[in-house]
Amino acid sequence: MAAEIRLFPCLTDNFGYLIHDVATGATASIDAPEAGPILAALEREGWKLTDILVTHHHHDHVGGISELKQKYGARVVAPHDKSAKIANVDLRVSEGDTVKVGNLAARVLETPGHTLDHTSYVFDSEQALFAADTLFSIGCGRVFEGNYPMMWDSLLKLRALPGDFRLYCGHEYTAANVKFALTVEPDNAALQARATEVTRLRAAGQPTIPVKLSDEKQANVFLRADVASVAAAVGLAGKGAAEVFGELRERKNKS
Ligand code: ZN
Ligand code: FE
Repeated sequence: MAAEIRLFPCLTDNFGYLIHDVATGATASIDAPEAGPILAALEREGWKLTDILVTHHHHDHVGGISELKQKYGARVVAPHDKSAKIANVDLRVSEGDTVKVGNLAARVLETPGHTLDHTSYVFDSEQALFAADTLFSIGCGRVFEGNYPMMWDSLLKLRALPGDFRLYCGHEYTAANVKFALTVEPDNAALQARATEVTRLRAAGQPTIPVKLSDEKQANVFLRADVASVAAAVGLAGKGAAEVFGELRERKNKS
C-alpha cells in the first residue's frame, strides 16, 4: 500500500482521519471536526498536513479548518455547492473529479441527502471509502436537506463499490445502529455477527471502523431497502425501495 491511514476520535462521537502518502509525504485530513486531535495525530506521526478534503458543511466536519489552515497552509477541497457555506476553500470539486493527495488519487462522488452538498471520497488504490454522514456502519445519516429517493440513490452509489473496500464513516454510531437494525431484521445472520463484533470492540474501547463494504452490504438494513424481506418487515411488501428506505429512516429517527 502506498498510503497510511489513521483514525482517532474527535468531539463527542466524530472520527478524525488522516491519509498519508508515503512516497511524497503529502497528508490529507478527511474533514476537520476540531483542530486539537488532528494536530496531535500529525505531531505523533511527524506528518505535515497538505490537504483537507471536506465532505459537507456541518459544523462537526468543518470546525477545525481555519486553525489547521493557519498552521499548515493546507489546501482546502470542498463540494462545489457554494450555498453551503464553508470558509477558506481553495478548490471546489464535483462528481467525477479526481483530487490528488501527493501521488494518491481520490475520486469524488456526490452523495446528497443528509445535506445537498454531501460528497464522499474514494481512494481506489487504497480500497478506502470516506463516506462521512451518508453511510454509517449499520446505519446512514439523517436526511436533513435532501429527500428519501435522493438519499437512497446516494446509498446505491456507495453500495456499488467493491466489497473489499473499507468504509471510513463520520461517526461512531454503530452500537445504536445495530440495536435499531435488529428490530427490523432480528434473524439476519450477518447483522447478528456484526452485533457480536461491535459489542466486543466497544467493550475493549476500540472503534468499530473501518468495516468491509461486503459486510455492510449484508448487515446494514439501510443498504437493503430493496430486499423483499426488509420491505415486508416494515409493512411495505411490494413497495419501491426509496419508500421502504424512507420508512426505515423514519423509524430510526423515532427509535
Ligand atoms: Zn453532518
Ligand atoms: Fe456529522
